[in-house]
Amino acid sequence: MKSSMKKLFFKTQYEPDEHGHFGEFGGQYVPELLIPALEELTQAYEQAKADPSFVATVHEVFKNYVGRPSPLYFAERLTKQLGGAKIFLKNEGLNHTGAHKINHCVGQALLAQRLGKTRLIAETGAGQHGVATATVAAKFGLHCTVHMGAVDVQRQAPNVFWMQQLGAEVRVVHDGSQTLKDAVTSALQDWMTDPIGSYYLLGSALGPHPYPVMVRDFQSIIGIEVAEQFQAYEGQGSVPDYLVACVGGGSNAIGLFNAFLDDKQVKLIGVEAGGRNPNQVGEHATRLGRQPQVGVIEGYKSFFLQDDDGNLQPTHSVSAGLDYPGIGPEHAYLYQQGRAQYVAVTDVQAVQAFRALANTEGIVPALESAHAVAYAIQLAPTLPPKKTIVVNISGRGDKDYFILRELIH
Ligand SMILES: *Cc1c(COP(=O)(O)O)cnc(C)c1O
Repeated sequence: MKSSMKKLFFKTQYEPDEHGHFGEFGGQYVPELLIPALEELTQAYEQAKADPSFVATVHEVFKNYVGRPSPLYFAERLTKQLGGAKIFLKNEGLNHTGAHKINHCVGQALLAQRLGKTRLIAETGAGQHGVATATVAAKFGLHCTVHMGAVDVQRQAPNVFWMQQLGAEVRVVHDGSQTLKDAVTSALQDWMTDPIGSYYLLGSALGPHPYPVMVRDFQSIIGIEVAEQFQAYEGQGSVPDYLVACVGGGSNAIGLFNAFLDDKQVKLIGVEAGGRNPNQVGEHATRLGRQPQVGVIEGYKSFFLQDDDGNLQPTHSVSAGLDYPGIGPEHAYLYQQGRAQYVAVTDVQAVQAFRALANTEGIVPALESAHAVAYAIQLAPTLPPKKTIVVNISGRGDKDYFILRELIH
């Protein structure tokens, strides 16, 4: 792990400009009032990543608290059963709190601490991001306010309970549809009234600059580890032929991809939620499906599922983490450049893949991650046995008990 110690922050040919534009995507489309806070953050982040003691602290917490490196595991039985390319699983589900989210939460909490902030603010829909934020707030001795729509509070009682046990205040939002987008509005208002004392902790590689870059950088450890672990299996200098990851906002996927972006022989595949029907409005979350629509929503420019008036369309996925109408700006750019390819997997295929992985390898993936597994299951038999696929298991499936219990009889 010596070489990766130095490399957490590095540049690829896909870096954004200084205002966070990946081509036409990204940027900072926020109320005037928030610009100073974002500028403070951008500067602090630039300084932090150039400071060896900050980088060393991130690595120390990754190792001793998160439990990194997470294993890269050769899925031998699944590979045999499919009879094609070798499948490897990067198992982020073994991280503390059970998913990749802890990586960017640790990084951002350390940054908040460095900035002298005393409180973390987050919004959450399904509650996974809220729990990860509450976790790092407890670890670093910071106050934590998690904004959550009243409808989501009802639906996600276990996560509300865990956030509270971790010492966070869950602020219930009764405005609008009482779901995620109202929680975002409420959280931003909270930040605007307390920009000095609080840190807004974002949950994916999206939002205004510098969040997409910051979140990506903290998640890049995934691909950095894979690059090294893969060579231990396949020999010095070897790289995987395919990387496959699910894409909600895009943090686990860009975390896997980043270290390989400049290596064009590595094919990158993001898997979106095809839901009940990827061709019907409201039944899926494939932002890059048939005719991607550019928009500016929630502080950044990207592709969004929206109607002709620019209003966000409803979405659906069996997995809460993929059920989002926008996608991080770097993915929009990689799509436009043709560097990464984006495909869709339905709810039914994801649940089948969940069962296949549980039965062949004894690994229970999160329903989000099961989307990536489902695509790998389609892809592997079409490839010769000397080809290799690395699938990111972004999280473990324990959290999906309540959904799966309803779906599987
Ligand atoms: C939140 C979540 C996702 C989706 O978020 P990304 O930012 O796209 O990675 C995927 N998998 C799991 C397990 C999650 O908790």
